[in-house]
Order: sequence, then C-alpha cells, then structure tokens
Amino acid sequence: MKNNQNTPIKMTKREFLTSVSAVSGVSAVLTTLNGWDMGIASAAEAPPNLTGNAKGKKVLILGAGLAGMTAAYELGLRGYNCQILEARSFAGGRCQSSRSGFTTTTTDGKKSTCDFDEGQYFNHGPWRIPSYHHAVFHYIRKFGVPMEIMVQENDLGYLRYEKAEGPLSGKRVRKREIKADMRGYTSELLAKLVDQGALDKEITNQDKEQLIDYLISEGFLNARDLKYDGTIHRGLKTFDPMGSVKETATSPLPFKDLLQSGLGNTFKGVTTIDHPEIMYQAVGGMDKIA
Ligand SMILES: Cc1cc2nc3c(=O)[nH]c(=O)nc-3n(C[C@H](O)[C@H](O)[C@H](O)COP(=O)(O)OP(=O)(O)OC[C@H]3O[C@@H](n4cnc5c(N)ncnc54)[C@H](O)[C@@H]3O)c2cc1C
Repeated sequence: MKNNQNTPIKMTKREFLTSVSAVSGVSAVLTTLNGWDMGIASAAEAPPNLTGNAKGKKVLILGAGLAGMTAAYELGLRGYNCQILEARSFAGGRCQSSRSGFTTTTTDGKKSTCDFDEGQYFNHGPWRIPSYHHAVFHYIRKFGVPMEIMVQENDLGYLRYEKAEGPLSGKRVRKREIKADMRGYTSELLAKLVDQGALDKEITNQDKEQLIDYLISEGFLNARDLKYDGTIHRGLKTFDPMGSVKETATSPLPFKDLLQSGLGNTFKGVTTIDHPEIMYQAVGGMDKIA
C-alpha cells in the first residue's frame, strides 16, 4: 500500500483489516480474508490429526469460544491437561443466544437484560450454518446437537430499507415485488433495444430472437409490445383458492422509484455461494452448539 507521495506504508494485516472495515464494513473484511485464504469457513472436514505424547503436559487456552473449546476437547482426548481461561461469565464466545434473563454489557457500558417470554430466544451472534462448514458439522454430529433447516432466502419476506432514497424510503416492500419489477423493467428495456436493432453489431439475428424470447419469459413481458405491466407472480390483489374470482395482479412499483431507492441492489439474481437458500440452525438456539 502507498500514501499520496507514492511511498510504501508499513501496515500489519490487523491494521489493514481495521481500515477496510471502517471504510466498507464487515462484508469487505470477509471478502479480504477470503482473498488471503483466511476466510471464516475452514476447509477442514475432520478434527486435526494430532500426534505425539502429551505426558500430562499442561495447556492454558485463552477464551472459551468454539475455537478454544474445540482445542481443549481435541487436546484433552490426547492426554493434555487443558485449562480454559475465559474473560466472561459464560462459555461460547460470540456463539450466543438471548433468552429471558440473559444480560450483556455493550462497549459503551450499557447493560441490557433480555425479558422474552418463556421459550422465546434470539440468536444475536451466529444464526445460520451453511452445509460446507464441515468442521462445525463434525462436532454437531459428534455431540448430537439437534439441527433444523434455516431458510435464508424467502421472496415473500419484506424489505424495509431506511437508507433508500425517494418514495420507497422506509416503505415495506416484498422481495418478490422488487425482483419481478426490476427484472421486468430491465428486460423490457433490453428487449426493446434488441428489437430496434441497437445491438445488431453484438448479436446475430437468430440470437436476437432467442434473447427476446428469454427476456419475455424472465421479465414477464407482454410478447406483443415487449412491455412489462406487472405479473401475478409479484403478488395478487385478489386471491380465491376455489378459482371463482379472477386473480388480479398488484400494480408494479414505478421504475423511477425503484431505481432511486437502490432496493434492487440489495440482492442478486443468483444466490451467492456463501449464502445458499437453505442453511441450518440449532433447534432452540445456536448457543446449543456451544
Ligand atoms: C453478529 C454475528 C453474527 C455471526 N453470524 C454468523 C453466522 O451466521 N454463521 C457463522 O458461521 N458465523 C457467524 N459469525 C461468526 C462466528 O460467531 C464466529 O466465527 C465464531 O463464534 C468464532 O469463535 P471463536 O472461538 O474463534 O471466537 P469467539 O467466539 O470470539 O471466542 C473468543 C473468546 O475468547 C474470550 N477472550 C478474548 N480475549 C480473552 C482474554 N484475553 N482472556 C480470556 N478470554 C478472552 C472472549 O470472551 C470469547 O469468549 C457471527 C458473528 C457475529 C458476531
């Protein structure tokens, strides 16, 4: 890294990550770590193959998070005498869940106590495990922690984007409405450009026809005039499961409002590889893993 005078700046990895997080947030830090091959998800599929003779050697482990406890467990199996020193009053580290009575003190010194009803909980640390977290699943299986599916992607869910600009700011909008309308309007524009010959240098006549067919299907366009006028798949105004009332679609959001809001940029058309639609969670709270 260089400063304004093009002189190299010496920086530790930790300092660099702190700057990345200040400028672009946690996801940029995770992307950087992945680039260094130091991403959160370990490639390990089985416990480390520890060898040697412990001969009752003592090991002091700092921190009773999942890493510290795993280290203590594996070393303990091989005869090491492990002691974990944990700064807080509970084990699990970041792997926590709030239930009635759970108390936490934030860095500004504020103390909060959870007053949920009996049986209610909230995973305020990790809340989903993708299937490729093989090492975590190894221990989940080993200790018989009951797991259940956690639905990561749900088009019926609502987005309320406070930072949105324009008329959609802070409005409750279903994800499928945003998806259908953004794809509809962009497909309409592209289909019209292709149809008017604006991309003739880029694609052949045969490709043009096939692309327009695809855009009609993907964007729910009217095949006659290549227009997007909404679709029942963005939501129904009237719905009668018996079929006696004609289904009518809700009206599409104005394209200008959608563009201005930035809502279309909050998700991708394809689910990202690190956030698959289906993930897993521990039944009754993620702290069951800890
Ligand atoms: C909000 C949030 C959401 C997350 N979501 C997910 C998710 O959905 N899926 C996922 O896989 N991961 C998620 N993570 C990441 C996951 O929680 C962590 O990767 C994992 O819990 C880290 O475990 P660890 O043992 O390495 O560290 P930690 O859990 O941080 O444990 C470190 C422990 O060391 C203790 N400690 C620190 N310093 C000292 C000291 N000097 N002396 C004694 N004790 C000390 C701490 O008190 C703590 O208990 C999330 C994390 C957060 C915070």
